[in-house]
Amino acid sequence: MSDKRAILITGGAGFLGSHLAAHLLVAGDRVIVMDNLLTGDIRNVSSFVGDDFLFVKHDVTQYIVVDEHIDCVLHFASPASPDDYMRYPIHTLKVGALGTHKALGLAKHHGAQFLLASTSEVYGDPQVNPQNESYWGHVNPIGPRGVYDEAKRFAEAMTMAYNRSHGLATRIVRIFNTYGPRMRLRDGRAIPNFITQALLGEPITIYGDGSQTRSFTYVDDLVRGIVALLDSDESEPVNLGNPEEVTIRTLAEAVLELTGSDSELVEEPLPIDDPKVRCPDIGRAREVLGWEPTVTLRQGLVPTIDWFREELDGSNSRG
Ligand code: UDP
Repeated sequence: MSDKRAILITGGAGFLGSHLAAHLLVAGDRVIVMDNLLTGDIRNVSSFVGDDFLFVKHDVTQYIVVDEHIDCVLHFASPASPDDYMRYPIHTLKVGALGTHKALGLAKHHGAQFLLASTSEVYGDPQVNPQNESYWGHVNPIGPRGVYDEAKRFAEAMTMAYNRSHGLATRIVRIFNTYGPRMRLRDGRAIPNFITQALLGEPITIYGDGSQTRSFTYVDDLVRGIVALLDSDESEPVNLGNPEEVTIRTLAEAVLELTGSDSELVEEPLPIDDPKVRCPDIGRAREVLGWEPTVTLRQGLVPTIDWFREELDGSNSRG
């Protein structure tokens, strides 16, 4: 058997999916990106060329057919920004539920390994901090964020059921807030919003008083963790995130300093069910994957700001 794996990435034209695709192509795998381009962007994969890359436009809530053999299915399709999943609530529920079922069915058909991109949102507005994988979460199922949180919780349950009932080799990564180049300028999340606003001299929109916390992971650290999880035999969920917890106000101030912007900070209403704290306990990732992040927030913001600057002035090659 050759070392080259054939890997299907659903949502592969999105921010994380395209970084993962780029990494796997460089590592010598064959990569099939499947995306309906609802929130993904074809430009994220337009520089991927050659016989080992294929793009298929398809909505994975519909039956998936892949004629060639697949070794791994990485299920990353879903709106991921709160603005996006509140704009597309039914799509979000469908891709987390029906799409996960279809992607698992495809993996089962091919005898392929399956990896689910889950999320720290399964912990909801957590009552313990930091969160480890044994925490069951605190989610409002009928609130506006419930469409994402419950879809991902269902997706985890379905993934574990395929593992237990069909013996499928499955992996679940709970991804904490991740950032870096290729995020959409106005995708609505804190880092893209703050950087875009700072670079354009617009007011920085802090929701609430900015005392809520998040822990931001640079995309290269995350991709390294996902690859390590794929290569492991860990079927229990694994948190991947950077435990460097900051308030949103601190994040805004760091963006102002690093961009040299004199934008003012303005407070806007806090969205419903916005988690007050979030920080990963990465003990399991350290133990089973030997993984930990290496890029600090300030280090990671620098190339991210550069990328946004080029995106705004139209000089990004996306190569
Ligand atoms: N946030 C903010 N201003 C913005 C966008 C987001 O203050 O322009 C806040 C948001 O309310 C949340 C935090 O920043 O408390 C992180 O939001 P993001 O959408 O990036 O991720 P998530 O809420 O999914 O963690």
